Amino acid sequence: MKYLSCRYIEHGMDFEHTRLETCCFTCHSGGGRITLKNEYKGEPIDWEALFNKKRKYRENHRKGNISPNCVGCVFLEEKEWDEEDYINFLQFNYWVLCNSKCSYCYEVQNKKIFEKIKPYNSVPIIKDMIEKKILRPGGEVSFGGGEPTIAPEFEELIKLLTANGFKNMRIHSSGIKFSPAIEDAIRKGVLNVVISIDAGCEKTYKKIKRVNAYKKVLENMKRYAEANMDYCGLMTSKYIIIPNVNDNRKEIDMWIDSVLQSGGNWLALDIEDVWYKTNRSTISSYYLHLVEYVINRAEALNMKIELYDRARGLKEGKNQL
Ligand code: SF4
Ligand code: SF4
Repeated sequence: MKYLSCRYIEHGMDFEHTRLETCCFTCHSGGGRITLKNEYKGEPIDWEALFNKKRKYRENHRKGNISPNCVGCVFLEEKEWDEEDYINFLQFNYWVLCNSKCSYCYEVQNKKIFEKIKPYNSVPIIKDMIEKKILRPGGEVSFGGGEPTIAPEFEELIKLLTANGFKNMRIHSSGIKFSPAIEDAIRKGVLNVVISIDAGCEKTYKKIKRVNAYKKVLENMKRYAEANMDYCGLMTSKYIIIPNVNDNRKEIDMWIDSVLQSGGNWLALDIEDVWYKTNRSTISSYYLHLVEYVINRAEALNMKIELYDRARGLKEGKNQL
């Protein structure tokens, strides 16, 4: 039977700071995320209780009752979904600490709240899932939150997922710390690292990131790009357009040049989240033209570009949803 659902409701799990959720997506009118377990801090999981909760949401979607959180989400799709209980879409957003201090970062802006959060370890849970055959490769794994590479369990976690057949992993990183596990997974063609540099020069980088690491990030982009010799696009450089800071063609051109010099050829583009949400119904056409400029530059240089939710919303005229 075909019905409207998404891969995260069906088979997803997101490790958040203090909760387990279906996904971490929030940039749509429903607001996103369905909580699977509140007040979670890394304890062993009662899988029957978790899948019971999932089954209820899946049943509701089967009856056409879309969760209010999911309204307007781009991940909803109508198709035949299987009825088995397993997880193959994993998101890791539990880690909060970072080696950067980005001006637009929610965690930096709410430092007092986030410094109280005690990170937990996910490796014991992943091992439990593997042992119980709850975890199936074939889906996707992504990382967000703070800077994952500085989590003590990070290298072990990536090695574990790589060894257990995950072939579609994506990590958002500041790029300040080099990770041998990322390098190895890139070399094997199973992991895409997305490095948010957001700038085309040291001065703008420092203004946004408020750390002195521009050269280090360029060096690490180059090392990851070198590991990417046999596969395309496993080192992506990301640029978040921040109004009145880096929202100009000159900075964007310098950024693209730096990516080419590192040996990379994949770009990702986004727009600063809080500004976008606050201004979504009145955003000037300047920003649409800027997004189009980056797309055209990438095409002219034979580079690939991925638009993240906000840039894609603007491009598709859905920013007023
Ligand atoms: S529809 Fe969207 S918000 Fe709802 S669970 Fe799926 S990805 Fe998350
Ligand atoms: S790299 Fe990410 S988590 Fe770290 S400060 Fe920047 S936005 Fe926040």
